[in-house]
Amino acid sequence: MHELSITEHLLDYCIREAERQNASKIRVIRLCIGQLNGLVPDCIQVYLDMLSEGTIAEGARIEAEFPPVKVRCRDCGRAGEITPHHLSCPVCGSLRLEILSGKEFYIKSMEVDIDGDKSTASDYGLE
Ligand SMILES: [Zn+2]
Repeated sequence: MHELSITEHLLDYCIREAERQNASKIRVIRLCIGQLNGLVPDCIQVYLDMLSEGTIAEGARIEAEFPPVKVRCRDCGRAGEITPHHLSCPVCGSLRLEILSGKEFYIKSMEVDIDGDKSTASDYGLE
């Protein structure tokens, strides 16, 4: 995945949402990044700094959470959480896994200023 184009979409979306709420500034963008999609928050931050110049998102900080990777084993049928470095069934060690989650990417919440007040807007989805 390419952080640059993702950041462009992210920024567009955040600015649109923030303006819809009459926000004057975006302070923090909290992202939920699945561990399997390989996105690096530091890269997103660098691109955001670059792209947001002169917008209400200028100076916004990226915070990221990494939810666990969930799989179901095709051999023993058990579901569990794994780390991206050990892509095998935690129960039987099989490599035949069905990925249940781990590729998500969405905005968990945004911290914005509305008329000088601090306010948090939550639960945004971004595909
Ligand atoms: Zn198994």
